[in-house]
Amino acid sequence: MKKLEEIILSHGEVYGKDILKVDSFLNHQIKPKLIQEMAEEFADHFKDKNITKILTVESSGIAPALLTGLKLGCDVVFARKQKSLTTDDNTYSSTCYSYTKEEMKRLMVSKNFLSEEDNVLLIDDFLANGQAAKAMVAICKQAGANVCGIGIVIEKSYQDGRALLDDMGIDVYSLARISHMDGKEIDFID
Ligand code: 5GP
Repeated sequence: MKKLEEIILSHGEVYGKDILKVDSFLNHQIKPKLIQEMAEEFADHFKDKNITKILTVESSGIAPALLTGLKLGCDVVFARKQKSLTTDDNTYSSTCYSYTKEEMKRLMVSKNFLSEEDNVLLIDDFLANGQAAKAMVAICKQAGANVCGIGIVIEKSYQDGRALLDDMGIDVYSLARISHMDGKEIDFID
């Protein structure tokens, strides 16, 4: 998605060679028009898969997932990372290593919102080593739901996640694929 690549180049900040900060349009401030265009791309790619539910992870996956749900006409569920007073124990869950927090996190989804009748589209903001995606796949498996594919806003293709998901036979559709980045430049795969 050309427009996404352009805004990554103009507004993204690279930390070391592995962390891209995109707080001005995705991870802190959100640009609705841009997210809407992302959702149109996701919806168009997955329109024939009879998606009944979108699963994402709080918090940055929610905006693109929500607008994609609007386009595809299905509900959106986000995996919670923390228990609260209102969370019950009736959950599917899986742990994963958080790339940005550098600690293990448990992802939880209520059993009320995912079932064996669901065709699920996973959505996330970034794909790095694939741990969040793998945990979402594990949760779908527990529910007996069918994973139809995954939509990623920004894939860092030189990290391990893409190959991991390809090996699992999952249809990965990424809107921007970074082949290399460092302090000075960011390169994309066409
Ligand atoms: P993975 O589980 O694929 O290793 O990492 C994906 C998750 O880590 C995403 O949900 C995202 O929140 C976070 N993440 C990974 N790489 C980056 C990055 O370069 N920048 C930002 N902002 N988040 C990232």
